[in-house]
Amino acid sequence: MEEMPEELRVLIKEKVYFCYQCGACVGSCPTARAIPEYNPRKMMEGLILGEWREILSGDLIWLCTLCHTCYEVCPQGVGISHIIIELRNLATKEGMAPEGFLDSAKQMAATGYVAPITGAVERTRKQLGLPEIKVIDTGEIKKIMELMRFRSVLEDESG
Ligand code: SF4
Ligand code: SF4
Repeated sequence: MEEMPEELRVLIKEKVYFCYQCGACVGSCPTARAIPEYNPRKMMEGLILGEWREILSGDLIWLCTLCHTCYEVCPQGVGISHIIIELRNLATKEGMAPEGFLDSAKQMAATGYVAPITGAVERTRKQLGLPEIKVIDTGEIKKIMELMRFRSVLEDESG
């Protein structure tokens, strides 16, 4: 991947260029509080400076909790959380999504839940008097994945 993808170019032009590096996003970010190397302000700076390949192929975009706090506090309305979603989508298209995320997506397509329903989970729920977890009809989830051209990514992954 050499040329910047068009959707990323538009995103940077229409959103990221408005970032004036005040740092309000990083000051309110729960991930940054827990993981010092995670810094949404620096991520925007990197995009402005043309370091999009490093950002797209790195691990940091996958650490965001998508809490949207940065969106709320940004005086420029940059919308970092939405930009991170776009970056993840692009990274996934380019085959750079972490294995764990793809496993969760496969699990969701199969059962409707992102985590596996293990024997241990079932036993604990029984002990707590909670109802059994039912595997739901995932037809609509699969349809959405198909419309987002995401199912083919998962199918490629399963070989
Ligand atoms: S809060 Fe907004 S303007 Fe300030 S550094 Fe973050 S993205 Fe840039
Ligand atoms: S959405 Fe992501 S980048 Fe923004 S404050 Fe939450 S964890 Fe931080």
